Amino acid sequence: MRIVALNKTDVFKGYLTLVNHEHPIRNHSHINSIRLIPFDEEHNDILLEATTSTLLLQLLKSIGCNNKIVLVSGYRSREEQEKIYNNSLLENGKAFTEQYIALPDQSEHQTGLAIDLGKNIDEIDFIRPEFSYTGICGDFRRKASKYGFIERYGKGKEAITGISHEPWHFRYVGYPHSQIIQDNNLSLEEYIPFIKDFAYEDKHLPIRENGKEIEVFYVSADSNTTTIQLPKNDSVQVSGNNIDGFIVTLWRQ
Ligand SMILES: [Zn+2]
Repeated sequence: MRIVALNKTDVFKGYLTLVNHEHPIRNHSHINSIRLIPFDEEHNDILLEATTSTLLLQLLKSIGCNNKIVLVSGYRSREEQEKIYNNSLLENGKAFTEQYIALPDQSEHQTGLAIDLGKNIDEIDFIRPEFSYTGICGDFRRKASKYGFIERYGKGKEAITGISHEPWHFRYVGYPHSQIIQDNNLSLEEYIPFIKDFAYEDKHLPIRENGKEIEVFYVSADSNTTTIQLPKNDSVQVSGNNIDGFIVTLWRQ
């Protein structure tokens, strides 16, 4: 066995952090420590968190994208988010802006884990790019969860996410979480409490994929440092939920 120490301040860090109206970004030093890289040579003005960028590129290659899909927006600084929000208020009014654009510190785009995708057409709408459910966009959707991505603001989830249905906005949460979220038709808002039913002390959530065994469970951040014991040889991944605890993924050996 090995002992893993989880620090309370790391609750605000990781691929499963929930950032929304109710749970804004509170720790800017964590945000500043995210490794951001340019998406690719043609889009070097758009930055993404490094793993998000790598997996998005792999996913697009796997569907033979050849520039038929473009990255419209990725990482945004707090200042950029503020500018977009204020410009939209002037151009589109309050009702539209509140429906589609998050306030500064309430936008996932500030984490580098969120992407807006658009079909590569002549005039791409920056706020609401066209990204359908058929053709190349449909191909992207069918494979997205395998690469760790989810459609973040789904249809029918508006009351829970507080954001209108956004077919173009995807979020990297990592596999197998993307798959669990999709299979159970959950929003990220629903996944956070869902996973709490699989506590460290109790039964973990088992996932089987191509002969691999994965376990997912929740650890509450009750004290400044929470220690857990894990099997020595398993690979482990930990993410805070940006609220009160950690989601641990164990890749069993
Ligand atoms: Zn977006």
